[in-house]
Amino acid sequence: MSIVTISHLRKTYGPYTAVNDLSIDVPEGCVFGLLGPNGAGKTTTFKCMLGLARPTSGSIAYDGQPLTPAKFDTIAYVPERSVLYDWMTVAEHVEMQRRAYASFEVKHAHELLAQFNIDPRKKTRALSKGMRTATMVALAIARKADLLILDEPTSGLDPINQRHVLNLIINESARGATVIFSSHQIGQVERAAERIAVIDRGNLALEGAVDDLKAGRKIVEAIFPSEALSLNGISRDGRILRVDRSGRIVRLLVSNDSAEFVAKLEALGGTGVRIVDLNLEDIFLYAVAPQETTADVVEGAIK
Ligand code: ATP
Repeated sequence: MSIVTISHLRKTYGPYTAVNDLSIDVPEGCVFGLLGPNGAGKTTTFKCMLGLARPTSGSIAYDGQPLTPAKFDTIAYVPERSVLYDWMTVAEHVEMQRRAYASFEVKHAHELLAQFNIDPRKKTRALSKGMRTATMVALAIARKADLLILDEPTSGLDPINQRHVLNLIINESARGATVIFSSHQIGQVERAAERIAVIDRGNLALEGAVDDLKAGRKIVEAIFPSEALSLNGISRDGRILRVDRSGRIVRLLVSNDSAEFVAKLEALGGTGVRIVDLNLEDIFLYAVAPQETTADVVEGAIK
């Protein structure tokens, strides 16, 4: 069952298309990672989801219905930029949230703030960038929301607090909430997210369960004695989905029969040939990095 259904979302700013025909289903209870290069359209998508930006066309449904004020109250949002009031203390923000949301748990908010070493007596203007992010995350988690939309919730945090935020995200999902978050830290997304979508220049480049995206594909990697090597036409094999080359290193993305390509690369003089499992960073780069550039280099080197 999808908790959020984004259908053919398009958002333009004047002549510029920030999001183009984006369709994504987010299953209930899942941790969903939204990835994309700078300016890809992640924040715009979140804003459209929350009614903070008006879609040019397309629709967003929650449990099949458009966003209503009642539904809005069950969604906790951490925006990319701080929305804390400089002149208020952290404790006053906690109080403001308590008054605004019946489900908000003050005790839990203070526990979370303590975990991040944030003194609630501080005015938020005195908080560092990372502490502001942590404060917003703590306030969102204490909402006990059904859906959390977190736009770069680890931005500016040190590695310990980054890890803590990831654990909080996983805990939210464990209690049945759905979490959609964006991050440029792909390793973090890999750790927490069950499903991902990659947006590139406003378009959906890839979407699916992380395990499915990794399955059935391997990387065969080899080092060659010289950059000017011939791959003997291997790269035209239909089982090779992509060829990347960096100096003397050649990486083949293969759909199956990876052992066969190990033998082929060894026969061509490759050393240290190995089969590598795909990680999410590979999947992301394959989705957004233009293949022509890398493949051409290899083909160029063949001649
Ligand atoms: P980042 O990872 O850098 O935060 P993003 O994926 O969140 O990027 P968006 O903030 O959604 O990207 O921006 C998508 C594109 O839309 C960018 O090119 C941006 O300049 C443009 N854009 C966003 N908001 C506006 C606006 N209010 N007016 C004009 N252009 C905008």
